[in-house]
Amino acid sequence: YHPDTNSISYTTLSRFPPVKLLPPSARKRILVTGGAGFVGSHLVDRLMLLGHEVTVIDNFFTGSKTTVSHWIGHPNFEMVRHDVVEPFMIECDQIYHLACPASPPHYQFNAPGSLSVARPRCTATQKSTPQTEDYWGHVNPIGPRACYDEGKRVAETLTYGFQRQDGVDVRVARIFNTYGPRMNPYDGRVVSNFIVQALKGEDMTVYGDGTQTRSFQYIHDLVDGMIALMNSDESRPVNIGNGDEFTIGDFAKLVREIVEKVQDEDGVKRKRRVEIVYEPIPTDDPQKRRPDTTRAKESLQWQPRWTVRMGLEEMVRYYKAKMAEGSL
Ligand code: UDP
Repeated sequence: YHPDTNSISYTTLSRFPPVKLLPPSARKRILVTGGAGFVGSHLVDRLMLLGHEVTVIDNFFTGSKTTVSHWIGHPNFEMVRHDVVEPFMIECDQIYHLACPASPPHYQFNAPGSLSVARPRCTATQKSTPQTEDYWGHVNPIGPRACYDEGKRVAETLTYGFQRQDGVDVRVARIFNTYGPRMNPYDGRVVSNFIVQALKGEDMTVYGDGTQTRSFQYIHDLVDGMIALMNSDESRPVNIGNGDEFTIGDFAKLVREIVEKVQDEDGVKRKRRVEIVYEPIPTDDPQKRRPDTTRAKESLQWQPRWTVRMGLEEMVRYYKAKMAEGSL
């Protein structure tokens, strides 16, 4: 600001993270549905930093306006409140369709609604592990999870239908359990539940006997994988996930250990060690889930780079900071 001329210097004005300056030929117009959500907002950050023009559409049912608010006003960024079950006209080069509630309490709030937003993703699995892309899924069609699982399946059916019928260029990412900052701390997912419970000194709730397994990937790995897939010519489904498999019981102990490490480093005194308690297992909870990511490695030269320990430590620090500012 120059008080003498009462004007602003635009060469120094920068309230945005530094975005790459791409030549117009390399700059893409990219639509991200669900761009205000957990996964969507991290993808939007990366696409913006890479210098693309990004349009977010979101109905803010589970997404929050604050996740991408740091881009509002940037010339490469647009945000529209819109529900993807209604038609939307836009010209663009790429579409990432990420609009769909992902946590059980959220997608069960409106089960038929969740089914209708069909987004490509993995389905519940029990019979085959590790799971390759040839796996056709194992779903109880009348169970409470079905609206989510069947939604992913029908999304793939629709996607390849558009490819066959209209020649649409398609990519299908089968995304396995993912965690990271901006994950809603109260949406009931295991990573957020365990970290928040341990940070607050509350008992950690393992559902069932804790022998069921999951493997967890950090959000930045997923974003790398999705962008690599989009820009590849692989039109078959591709698993994007981390192959490190944990029983939920062991995972609870690992989270507790990492929370304690962070607390010790920060000189936080604990009143007592948090206990691990057992609660009833939800209906149709898959017993085993681990991705086989050979295809992603071969086709996209992608593989996860974040170990679970590294990712969890970042996530613990993120929630700890939220707690300190009083928003947790
Ligand atoms: N889970 C748990 N305690 C919790 C929340 C979840 O033991 O506080 C279990 C849940 O039963 C499941 C696993 O952790 O076996 C992963 O649950 P999440 O909802 O995070 O993901 P999904 O079931 O969709 O893989």
